[in-house]
Amino acid sequence: MSEQNRQASERYRNNFLKEVEERVEEGEWVKMCMQCGVCAGSCPLGPAWEHSPQKIFMMIRAGERERVLSSDAMWMCTSCYSCIVRCPRKLPITHIMHGLANYAHRLGLAPKGQPTRDFAKLFWDNLVKKGRVNELKLTLAHYFRGGLMSGIREALAMQGIGKGLLKAGRLNPKELLGGHALKDLKGFHAIVAKAREIEDRKKGLSG
Ligand code: SF4
Ligand code: SF4
Repeated sequence: MSEQNRQASERYRNNFLKEVEERVEEGEWVKMCMQCGVCAGSCPLGPAWEHSPQKIFMMIRAGERERVLSSDAMWMCTSCYSCIVRCPRKLPITHIMHGLANYAHRLGLAPKGQPTRDFAKLFWDNLVKKGRVNELKLTLAHYFRGGLMSGIREALAMQGIGKGLLKAGRLNPKELLGGHALKDLKGFHAIVAKAREIEDRKKGLSG
């Protein structure tokens, strides 16, 4: 168990709803859910969910901390917003799902090897380095995430798309040699560090 997770469990013992309200983006809305099931019925992922948003909100209120935070469910949300536009209580369901995923990740409880989480991390690490996404490096990092042989197989399988992107000028081989960066990279990194500091404080994860 991570130190941050231990501290959070200790602080919010038997009150997971309060923890979500205080530390998860838009978490204060969870108590407004009236369990009508409209979001579960509207979600295009349907049977692919381990738990629908409706069930996740019920589990939060029931104090099922470990089951919620280690669930794969929040990582499956595609941000289609069907649930938000239909929820009779106007809960920002999409944002809560992403907020729960992020909080679980920060506490070290998110499921290991979850593909959305892995790609989100690759994307973030790539973006934050130069302040711009280096698409070529991101693609290669994604293909070779499982090792050399699987990377070669994946790259060969996708070579048609790669050639098309090169032809259209959407992939530049020169980007492998470092890639272009924001002009004020130092300033950008300072903004990111400040944003992280504010977010950590809000989530009680600082120090
Ligand atoms: S649609 Fe809204 S009120 Fe109904 S179960 Fe989903 S979150 Fe709760
Ligand atoms: S935004 Fe996410 S949770 Fe809501 S309906 Fe779409 S996929 Fe499902």
